[in-house]
Amino acid sequence: MITIVGAGLAGLSAAYHLNKEYTVLERDSKVGGLCQSINLDGYVFDYAPHILFTRNPYTKTLFHNLLGDNLHTQNRLAYIYMNDTYVKYPFEANLYPLPDDIKEECIQGVIDKPTTEPTNFYEWIQTTMGEGIARHYMVPYNEKIWKYPLNKMNTAWIKGRVPSPSVEEMRRGATAPTQMEYGPNAEFWYPKRGGIGALADRLAKDIPVKLRTEATWFTPTSDGVETLYVEDFEEKSIHSEKAVSSLPLPEVINMMDDVPDEVQKAADNLVYNSLVCVMVGVKRPNITDKHWLYFPEPDLIFNRISFPMNFSKYTTPEGCSSILVEVTYKDKEMNLEDTKRKVLEDLASTNLITESDEITVCEAIDFKYAYVIYDLNHNVNVKVINDYLVAHNIIPIGRYGEWEYYNMDKAILSGKQASETLNQ
Ligand SMILES: Cc1cc2nc3c(=O)[nH]c(=O)nc-3n(C[C@H](O)[C@H](O)[C@H](O)COP(=O)(O)OP(=O)(O)OC[C@H]3O[C@@H](n4cnc5c(N)ncnc54)[C@H](O)[C@@H]3O)c2cc1C
Repeated sequence: MITIVGAGLAGLSAAYHLNKEYTVLERDSKVGGLCQSINLDGYVFDYAPHILFTRNPYTKTLFHNLLGDNLHTQNRLAYIYMNDTYVKYPFEANLYPLPDDIKEECIQGVIDKPTTEPTNFYEWIQTTMGEGIARHYMVPYNEKIWKYPLNKMNTAWIKGRVPSPSVEEMRRGATAPTQMEYGPNAEFWYPKRGGIGALADRLAKDIPVKLRTEATWFTPTSDGVETLYVEDFEEKSIHSEKAVSSLPLPEVINMMDDVPDEVQKAADNLVYNSLVCVMVGVKRPNITDKHWLYFPEPDLIFNRISFPMNFSKYTTPEGCSSILVEVTYKDKEMNLEDTKRKVLEDLASTNLITESDEITVCEAIDFKYAYVIYDLNHNVNVKVINDYLVAHNIIPIGRYGEWEYYNMDKAILSGKQASETLNQ
C-alpha cells in the first residue's frame, strides 16, 4: 500500500503511474490543486492563469491523449505595459514603441554588458540583458513578482525560461514590428472547454480520491510510515510502505515528531511568495485581443494580467470579457476587499476597463504558496530536507514537495518518476 497525499497534478500522476494498491488523500473538495478552474456566473477562471507547453515528449503526448480534441493550439500574444504603451514580449526583440533614448540605452546595454560570471540573479540580468533592459524592465518586473532581493536569488532556475537577446534582433525590433517569437511558450495549448481544470479532471478520471480528507501527521516506522488524516471530522490513520507527498516541504516537516534541528532549520529557511488572484468579469466584449500582460511599474498593484476569453471563447459569456489578475505578496497579510478595490482602480488607470463598464464578477482567491524562491541556500536546504524525508519513507513530489519552479509538465513527471521507482 502506498499513501499519496495531495491530488494536484503531481499526486494524480503518481496514482496514474503506480502499479500498486494506493490511497489518495486530498484536503480540498476537488482534485487538481493549482490546476483547477472555477465557474463564476458563467465565467471560467483558472486558479491563476495556466497554459500548457512542454519540451518533454511524454507529457506532450499525455496532454493530447487526455484532452483530445478539447485541446487547441494558440500563438502567444503577450505584452509588457510600460511608459503608457504596450511592448510586445519578448521585450528585447520589440523595442519599437519605446522612446528613442530608452531603445538606445537597451541596445547599448547589451553591447556593453559585463562578461563576468554572475553569482546571483541580479548579476545574471545585467550580464545577460545589459544595463538598459535591466533598469527599464527586468529588474522592476522581477522585484515586483518575486518580492525578494534579486541579488539574494540564485540562477539555477532560469535555464530555458528567459529568452536572451542578440543585438541584431534588437536593432530590427527597435525600428519596426517583427514577427519574432521565441521562448518555451511561444506556442501553447489550452482546453477549449472547462479551463485548465479539464486536464486534472481527465487525469483523475479513473483514480479514486478521498476528497475533503486532510493529512495531519506522519509517523515513520521501521517498515513504512503511518499517516494520520481527518475525514468527515473523524481522525483516522493508514499504514503504508511509503507516503508520496506533494505537500509543501515546510508543512511536511511540521507534521513530524523529533525532527533534527538541522532539518527543521532548513525547512524554516525555505523562501516562497504568495499570490492573490482577482477574477473580473466585464459586460463588454473584446476588451483586448492579447493573452496576457506584464506590469513592471511599481505603482500598479498587479504584476501580470491575463484574459481567459482569449485562451478559449468558451470561458466567457457571450458579449463579455474576463480578466484574471495576479498580485504577488510576501511576509504580510493581504486584505482581499482592499486588493479587489485597488485592482479595479488600476485596471481603470491602465484603460483596461472604463467607468461605464458593468463589472459582473469580482472575486479574489488567496494562495499561500505561489512561487518557490531560489534564495542562495535553496539547493542546500532542499537537499537536507529531501534526504531526511526519503530516509523516513516519505517521497516528496511536485512543485512544493520538491520545492522547485515546476510547471505542470514537471509536476506530472515528478509523480510519474516516484511511482516508477516504487513499481520496481
Ligand atoms: C501563478 C502560477 C501560474 C502558473 N502557471 C503555469 C502555467 O502557465 N503553465 C504550467 O505548466 N504551470 C504553471 N504553474 C505551475 C503549476 O500550477 C504547478 O506546477 C502544478 O499545478 C503543481 O502541481 P502539484 O501537484 O505539484 O501541487 P499542487 O497543485 O499544489 O497540489 C498539492 C495538493 O495537495 C493538497 N494538500 C495540501 N495539503 C494537504 C493535506 N494536509 N492533506 C491532503 N491534501 C493536501 C492541495 O489541496 C493540493 O490539491 C503556475 C503556478 C503558479 C503559482
